[in-house]
Amino acid sequence: MTQLVVSDVSKRYGATVALDRVSLSIEAGSRVAVVGPSGSGKTTLLRIIAGFEAPDAGRVTLDGQVLADGPAIAPAHRRRVGYVAQDGALFPHLDVAGNLGFGLPRNAPDRADRLRELMEMVELDPAMLTRRPDELSGGQQQRVALARALARKPALMLLDEPFSALDTGLRETVRQAVGRVLSRAGITSILVTHDQAEALSFADQLAVMRDGRLVQSGRPDELYWRPHDSRTALFLGEGTLIEAEIGDGFVASPLGRLPAPTSGRRGCGTVLLRPEQIVLGPPRSEGPNAIVQSVSFGGSRCFAQLRLAAGETELLLTAQVESIRLPAVGAAVSVEVRGDAWLLPEADRHGGS
Ligand code: ADP
Repeated sequence: MTQLVVSDVSKRYGATVALDRVSLSIEAGSRVAVVGPSGSGKTTLLRIIAGFEAPDAGRVTLDGQVLADGPAIAPAHRRRVGYVAQDGALFPHLDVAGNLGFGLPRNAPDRADRLRELMEMVELDPAMLTRRPDELSGGQQQRVALARALARKPALMLLDEPFSALDTGLRETVRQAVGRVLSRAGITSILVTHDQAEALSFADQLAVMRDGRLVQSGRPDELYWRPHDSRTALFLGEGTLIEAEIGDGFVASPLGRLPAPTSGRRGCGTVLLRPEQIVLGPPRSEGPNAIVQSVSFGGSRCFAQLRLAAGETELLLTAQVESIRLPAVGAAVSVEVRGDAWLLPEADRHGGS
């Protein structure tokens, strides 16, 4: 069931176009990540959905209720929408119970039970209810912020880079915990982040923004393997773009003939190869071989930059390599491609988005 519908929403700040006719539909219970470089309009979109800003034009509806119709908006507190900010924004002078209490009716008879339940929902020990925010770790503070937002039983939860202030290891743990909590509660959630790895692992739907526009949305694997343009391709991960001649179900490239869905296109095009598609082997006597230019060690994710001379052309390729078997810089290696190459849609060749 479609729950949140954003239609043709635009917003300007003076001469800056923050959002340019953004449309997005979100299914009930799904987890959506809005990604894009800094300044692309992510926060503005989230703030409009939350009710902190009014759009200049366009509509936002939640379960059929109109939240915004151009500049006419329903006030934030009347929306069934929770919001967790980057720094949690807890009240520093109140203990955890006091912070959580903001979302609960004052004299509710089951208040103590609700507080305990909220703590358990976010996987925190109810004994922490008497602590002040400065007596909690960053990760614990973010869970309290989430619990406070959950107290009002929202239909939609908005998460504005809530993990960005946390250390890498903790970030992963808290992100997984938050994802679990929201899934269990069946709450639709939208996460805004500039971290593509975070987005790919959190979301079941990804929306990519650039220059105030939503350039592509869909399943994370779909966007990763079949991006609409080169900037989205390279924003979502490492990759190599190669010019190739288009055949019927394949492309002819300096790496040889590669299977590719070509949908009846002809002529030349740009194909994307992800590093995990490029497999290195011992050099072949009949060539062509590539030379390892550099290796970047990143623990479980390591990459090698390769240079391949094929006839007139020289190609630079990024391959993922195993950390236990790093190739030597300067070594000659054979290159094989696994899976399909992805032919970018035609418009991208002219610099379209
Ligand atoms: P993101 O969250 O992707 O970094 P934002 O939505 O914060 O992007 O900003 C989009 C654009 O709108 C940017 O150019 C930003 O400078 C501008 N902008 C955002 N908020 C304001 C504001 N209150 N006043 C003026 N310009 C703003």
